[in-house]
Amino acid sequence: MSERFSPKVIPLVDARPRPLAVPDTWLEPGSRMTANGLVSDTLGRNLRDLRISVTDRCNFRCNYCMPKEVFDKNYPYLPHASLLSFEEITRIAQQFINHGVQKIRLTGGEPLLRKNIEVLIEKLAALRTLEGQPLDLTLTTNGALLARMAKSLKAAGLQRVTVSLDGLDDAVFRRMNDVDFPVADVLAGIHAARDAGLGPIKINMVVKRGTNDQEILPMLRHFKGSGMVLRFIEYMDVGATNGWRMHDVVPSAEVIQRIRAEMPLLALEPANPGETAQRWGFADAAGTYDRQAGEIGVISSVTQAFCSDCNRARLSTEGRLYLCLFANQGYDLRSLLRREASDADLASAIGHIWSGRADRYSELRGAMAADTGSGARRVEMSYIGG
Ligand code: SF4
Repeated sequence: MSERFSPKVIPLVDARPRPLAVPDTWLEPGSRMTANGLVSDTLGRNLRDLRISVTDRCNFRCNYCMPKEVFDKNYPYLPHASLLSFEEITRIAQQFINHGVQKIRLTGGEPLLRKNIEVLIEKLAALRTLEGQPLDLTLTTNGALLARMAKSLKAAGLQRVTVSLDGLDDAVFRRMNDVDFPVADVLAGIHAARDAGLGPIKINMVVKRGTNDQEILPMLRHFKGSGMVLRFIEYMDVGATNGWRMHDVVPSAEVIQRIRAEMPLLALEPANPGETAQRWGFADAAGTYDRQAGEIGVISSVTQAFCSDCNRARLSTEGRLYLCLFANQGYDLRSLLRREASDADLASAIGHIWSGRADRYSELRGAMAADTGSGARRVEMSYIGG
């Protein structure tokens, strides 16, 4: 029985939940919040990382994110007019920076499908953090268009990329992306990014039991010593369409165990606050960290939640602000923009939204189950980016 038909995939008429409106009271002089880089949420988490989805379209149909049965030619993708323009994205990004954001990640769908994305990257690269530093400006891609675009992305001001690659075995990879796209072309994109100076490059592999977990060691051997950081991601119950089952999850502890059966690893300290990956370094014969061989990461949203220092906000391609990857509703910032709200209005709205945040889905997964009682389904990852 082929993989695609085992879990129950749920076709949806329209996956996007209704947005929450920004109350006018948040913009009134008496309750306006100004941006000073210190806003924190109800769990004391600052706002440091903004993920911006620039399209809801993709040229892959990875079955853990955009199953073909749902995201087919009849799926109601967003009309161009409803997408935030590059000017609108840049205006909103500036207000997030004023609240303390230091890192912006461009996502999708597949962000390289957004026409003239280099123009947006140039605008964002010109922005500075509150400390006057360049932003940490990065992008997550499936690599399909990277070979062609790496140089222009770098020239526009992009600093680094994260490339999704779920296996080296062509048959396995084609089955995962479900559009028959060859591994060789993604590897060519990764090399073009390296040659263009888009680094350090991270490689994300979503591990699904019985589908591509046999690729863990081949991927590891391939990227060891390459200077790139391979991360193994636990298969997640994102959205409401991928038919997720715990049975298909390979816990990160098992991934590490499998690797250690072949080669020694040692745990490394987190590189940044709020980092999603646990770092493991390759060990040399003396048992110390072998920098030449490099490191790997595991991202364990299912078995080892990391919500306690989650400092990430997500902006959908039509300007809705989501506070968690597993959220079911977002705040509509586009309406504010298009009714010509001031920058101070935008800043106040973002401040109020973040300071009211209490999200920690991965910590509460069991209890929160499929629905959070508001009736809205979890938002699709292809809509707000991973
Ligand atoms: S589950 Fe939500 S709150 Fe927790 S780490 Fe992920 S995005 Fe952050």
